[in-house]
Amino acid sequence: MAHHHHHHGHSHGSSNESSAAYPTLNFGAGAKWIKHLTKDRLGTFNGGHFSDVNLSSTLYAHRIDNQEHVKLEVWSAPGLSKPSFEEAMKQKFKPTKKGESFGPSWVCRASTNHWWKVSITIPSYLEQYERVQFEFDPGCEAMIHTTDGTPLQGITGGYGGDRRVEHIIPPSAVKAGKYEIVIESSCNGMFGVPWNGDTIAPPDMNRFFQLASADLVVPNMEAWNLMWDFQTLRELTDSLPGNTSLQNKALTTANAIMNAFEKGDPSTITEARKLAEEVFGEGWAKKGAKIYDEGPEKARIWGIGHCHIDTAWLWPYRVTQQKVARSWSTQVDLMDRFPEHRFTCSQAQQYKWLEQLYPPLFERVKEKIKEGKFHPVGGSWVENDSNMPSGEALARQFILGQRYFESRFGVRCKTAWLPDSFGLTGALPQLIRLADMDYFFTQKLSWNNINIFPHSTFNWVGIDGTQVLCHMTPVDTYTAQATVGDINKGVTNHKNLESSDISLLVFGNGDGGGGPLEKMLENLRRIRATGNHSREIPVVNMGHSVDEFFDVVAKDSDAGTKLPNWSGELYLEVLSTFASLYKFHKSDYVYPNERINDCWEKVLLNQFHDVLPGSAIGMVYDDAEKLYAEVRKEGDALIEEAFKAIFSPSVSLADPVMKSKKTGTLVGFNTTFFPRRDIVEVPLTGAATRLRSQVVQTSKDGTVGLALMDGPTAGGLSYGTGMYADCKPVSVTRLGEDHFVLKNASVQLTVSEGRITSLVDVALERELIPEGETGGLVIFDDRPNYWDAWDVEVHHLEKYKKLSFGNISVAAEGPLRAALKAEVKYGQSTINVIISLDAIPASLKKNSRSFFRFDAQVDWHQRHEFLKFELPLDIHNDNATYETQFGHVQRPTHKNTTWDIAKFEVCGHKYADLSEFGYGVAILSESKYGFSCRGNVLRISLLRAATAPDAEQDQGKHEFSWAVMPHQGHFLESDVPIAAILFNSPLHVRLLEDTAEAPLLKTKPGFSIEGAPNVVLETVKRGLDDDFSKHDTSAPTVVLRLYEAYGGHAQATFKIASHIPVVKAVLTNLLEDEGEELNLLQTENASLAVKLKFHGFEVKTVKLTLGKPGALPKRDSWVTIDKPRA
Ligand SMILES: [Zn+2]
Repeated sequence: MAHHHHHHGHSHGSSNESSAAYPTLNFGAGAKWIKHLTKDRLGTFNGGHFSDVNLSSTLYAHRIDNQEHVKLEVWSAPGLSKPSFEEAMKQKFKPTKKGESFGPSWVCRASTNHWWKVSITIPSYLEQYERVQFEFDPGCEAMIHTTDGTPLQGITGGYGGDRRVEHIIPPSAVKAGKYEIVIESSCNGMFGVPWNGDTIAPPDMNRFFQLASADLVVPNMEAWNLMWDFQTLRELTDSLPGNTSLQNKALTTANAIMNAFEKGDPSTITEARKLAEEVFGEGWAKKGAKIYDEGPEKARIWGIGHCHIDTAWLWPYRVTQQKVARSWSTQVDLMDRFPEHRFTCSQAQQYKWLEQLYPPLFERVKEKIKEGKFHPVGGSWVENDSNMPSGEALARQFILGQRYFESRFGVRCKTAWLPDSFGLTGALPQLIRLADMDYFFTQKLSWNNINIFPHSTFNWVGIDGTQVLCHMTPVDTYTAQATVGDINKGVTNHKNLESSDISLLVFGNGDGGGGPLEKMLENLRRIRATGNHSREIPVVNMGHSVDEFFDVVAKDSDAGTKLPNWSGELYLEVLSTFASLYKFHKSDYVYPNERINDCWEKVLLNQFHDVLPGSAIGMVYDDAEKLYAEVRKEGDALIEEAFKAIFSPSVSLADPVMKSKKTGTLVGFNTTFFPRRDIVEVPLTGAATRLRSQVVQTSKDGTVGLALMDGPTAGGLSYGTGMYADCKPVSVTRLGEDHFVLKNASVQLTVSEGRITSLVDVALERELIPEGETGGLVIFDDRPNYWDAWDVEVHHLEKYKKLSFGNISVAAEGPLRAALKAEVKYGQSTINVIISLDAIPASLKKNSRSFFRFDAQVDWHQRHEFLKFELPLDIHNDNATYETQFGHVQRPTHKNTTWDIAKFEVCGHKYADLSEFGYGVAILSESKYGFSCRGNVLRISLLRAATAPDAEQDQGKHEFSWAVMPHQGHFLESDVPIAAILFNSPLHVRLLEDTAEAPLLKTKPGFSIEGAPNVVLETVKRGLDDDFSKHDTSAPTVVLRLYEAYGGHAQATFKIASHIPVVKAVLTNLLEDEGEELNLLQTENASLAVKLKFHGFEVKTVKLTLGKPGALPKRDSWVTIDKPRA
């Protein structure tokens, strides 16, 4: 498109008049213009006290609300039910009218969703007008459908800034004089149903909504346009900093418009609009979207429409499904009216909901995607929390997300998108690149309440050295209103203008607000028109994608070389509720594919950024728990089916039929890739009492035995065994009334007067608790300033109470396990803890020490209190180490700078460790993610109790475990990561009735790693592109995910046992796109091997192709391929 710069038009100060025309005499008052008074005056032109005479009074030419023209019928769906369009249409509707109330919201037996049949009769005299609208305001959210069920647009009722209540009636219907639509309204405002207008209070279940409007209206479009003109002029006046000519011109123009306007004389509106051209340029309005083709070549601000829809937050998932349909239908409609409009949306789950629940709308969205106007972004299943999910779960977010986008729309995303996630793990850059994306958009760090993040556009370098090009919009929001202030902030707040001078403007109302409003698109056209003539406002563009924006940043910055780097995690300071809620359950067993994927989809959905961290309302957790329960059930079933396939017949020790089993062999299946020893509990009731011969220790009442299981090979099987020569019995000693000592050959712990007073490394005779200090449970006050569940403010550390273990008794006396039983009563809560020590070490690494295990059962009823476990250590280091996805991070133990102070509670996965040269102590965790280390005190956060937005957060019964693990050598020389994996992956123990029937017993472990103790095999799964419908026609593939866990290089020999017929091995990315082919080496015992080189924290995915097509036996599982052994 050619650029038309036009310099014709106005003659500002005619050259015909010479200075001679300057009058000689002057008898006028000549008052000095008082700028602020004029500015104040602008507030009276629209609405307010003078709305019956100012511009507001002219906005509508007609308004008809009688039942003769607007006929309404309603059917209220029972309770919380959410019937489909088809179901709703089958119901009996009854007449209703404007002014009636509906509700209450979200209460069973009442009604949440209401369906309306609207029949509008349009008088013929309305045909003459440019636009005829139906205005529908139920005070809540709603969606308009055609009579055959296609969603047309969303409605946001009420009187907030997000109000969107008008629906344009198609001209053909106006001509025909008849228009029929169907509306579904839902009794929740856009922020759920907040209490007292405080958006983070728990929902008010009894809120009613009133049908405020159901009117046929004719807007006076010229008046509306003048209103938008005037709004832009006001913004120019108010938002441009300093004293500039544009700002003054906008003000005098707006003032002149007020002088020109006369109610009752439509010509004055036209006259006023002409005046606005002083600022926007002559004839700007007629150019429409073409205004973006004029003016400077390079735009500084890139506008992209967006609607941040929280997949759940102050409303449950089922409400989100409606929000998605409402918002996206609205945007598809706006695209038809504003050709420059582009809209980007993330979260494959939301697209999938649309596909399942609103197929006609999904087709419309698909068309817009094809036209390049609707842009999927992010490449992930949901906008997930990035702190707590495991490495594999983060990988699956991208794998399932990208595959969904590719399968439905033929495109992958190029930009990762997490603007609202609370803190971002340093593992992300590598995973983003491995998911075939180069770019990353975020924003949430601008919430930091202690430090200001120093960059806007930068290379974000993850823990392994992988970079991703990152933009954090200087506009400081992903729900911008597209105002002059936003545009200006895009430049003035940009922190790297020296190396990149463009910014993203991500605008549109989030959640129920439905995305960009018409007035935002109108405002942007005017702002652009102004920018085409004036250098005092940055030029904004439209019509592009986020990917294109990043392409330009990459090009301008010489592929990022001109940009600053930021290394490691992007730390969000307000937070953190890691102690809360759920344990992440993962099943590594991959069959059948679809059932496994269904489980993953549910887990990934629950990892949404307001669900997993605990910042949503209680109702959301009811849904989440239901999904987790389904996943748990299905996961158990899948595991059971798999075990039936490999060990048949066998039975799980947890199975009630165990009672009837008299004979059999205990076999443990090790899902980790480390050799291990375990102590497992064996039920000894009923016939199973006979199994007593296989256990080493029995409980006092004889109902439970402890068996020692030995698994000498990585990834292999464990068998019951007796005490080893190197496995010295563990003991417990009671000295006096309140003094207990748990001890084995490597470590010793003393509990005295309810506190841990001593922790000794027996071999080194080293006391690890400083003189006079004690460890144990502790309660902190938890009263953050505002964002209750979001913030754990630094001041909570200022107030605390140490709790003592009471009622201590000996629960087990060895030789395999010794244990103490203790109770803590605090407030309304009871905490029961078993502290145990086993005879075996934490791992089979040489010199490994044993850990002390703490199993807690808590009945929690505290409010605004935070339960932690702490251990003061005689160890000094400026940094402590915490596990993150596929690696670890170090964070300071001191408060040297404000950046350090901000990290008072941090996220860690399976361990947190404080080490110095020669020694360290770790806390292992299986379900808690909040840790801290201040000075020499290492803490794990166990439970908290915020009261908003979920009034019942963490209330009730809990069971969880942690462990204290001393280790010789610094963390980097220790077995802490291995012990943490074992702690989280208990052995699967089965009772095999007939060992002859289990082919797996005779094979070696499928995979093993040699020469690289720092490399971990994390995941084994089937290939994404395998054909799961038939088993024997294509070559099945097995995909392995490995990573380097300590932060250094490794050269691993990855061995594949001979019974797995691998014919090809390739490296792939997360999406399993094939890369470099690996050499398959033949080793001694007929097994194959590949060499794998790693750098610190590198994640590698290896795809193995098995056998020849057609050559494989018809089996469900590659593990069961029992080829005769050579
Ligand atoms: Zn959000």
